[in-house]
Amino acid sequence: MFIEPRVGNGKQATRRGWIEVICGSMFSGKTEELIRRLNRAKIAKQKVEIFKPALDKRYHDEDVVSHNANSIRSTPIDFAQDMLLLGGSCDVVGIDEAQFFDEGLADVCAKLANSGVRVIAAGLDMDYLGNPFGPMPALMSVSEYVTKVHAVCVQCGDIAHYSFRNAASEQQVLLGETDSYEARCRHCFVEGMKAKK
Ligand code: ADP
Ligand code: MG
Repeated sequence: MFIEPRVGNGKQATRRGWIEVICGSMFSGKTEELIRRLNRAKIAKQKVEIFKPALDKRYHDEDVVSHNANSIRSTPIDFAQDMLLLGGSCDVVGIDEAQFFDEGLADVCAKLANSGVRVIAAGLDMDYLGNPFGPMPALMSVSEYVTKVHAVCVQCGDIAHYSFRNAASEQQVLLGETDSYEARCRHCFVEGMKAKK
């Protein structure tokens, strides 16, 4: 389990920021882990703000909701840049579905961290084809801590790190749930992709 370098600022005179990334496939527990870390920061009486891309409204317009129905209030925004204005005065900025943000995300997170904010970003590291997703590779490069969480392969029960798409769409962004996606291990993902051809 991830242990924070420190949760609160304690008696420290200066604020120091950093970036944490929580990545993995769909159903791997990214949102749960994000909510866990943010709740602990709240217990430490930290000022916490949570952002998500406005396009992700699967469960709720404003809440960030895990597949386990845990939730936390968030602010939907259109551009990564919007976080600078809204998150600059916070101790902790949480971001869910980070992969849907624009390429400016890594730069924005670095700016926040440089100004003393602890940034925790959760997102898919790969799209449904197994390719790196949007701004995630750049964000992972500039972050101090990267935690890869894993789902369970629904085909064989092994450790899963791919989001296999059952639906026929070829758009990179297709919001969906267990009806359109399933977590798969490498072997079952490759077999599934072969069967699609
Ligand atoms: P993510 O944000 O990574 O998509 P969530 O944190 O929303 O994941 O949900 C994780 C929860 O999803 C698990 O605790 C479990 O209850 C549920 N779940 C459903 N399908 C699976 C699966 N194939 N592997 C693991 N967990 C699953
Ligand atoms: Mg999630």
